[in-house]
Amino acid sequence: MSALLGCVEVWTVPTKKVCSIIGCENPSKRSFASVRISESLAKTGLRVKDARSRKVYLCADHWKQVKKAFKKVTKPERLRWGH
Ligand SMILES: [Zn+2]
Repeated sequence: MSALLGCVEVWTVPTKKVCSIIGCENPSKRSFASVRISESLAKTGLRVKDARSRKVYLCADHWKQVKKAFKKVTKPERLRWGH
């Protein structure tokens, strides 16, 4: 039984991106570089399925949740201006 699981990856449809959040199968609406979005995701309490992936895909619903945190994270970053 468990041997079959390894084969599933092989025929994942490459064109249709799905939301990267664990437990979510909605089509993705936006994609982000994971370095950009990971902090916001952590603040929102969401976990991505593949933490090693460089891209994070979010469906409309999850983007709505993350957007609030994302703006909070990015705003002070812009205002502070560098180290
Ligand atoms: Zn989602």
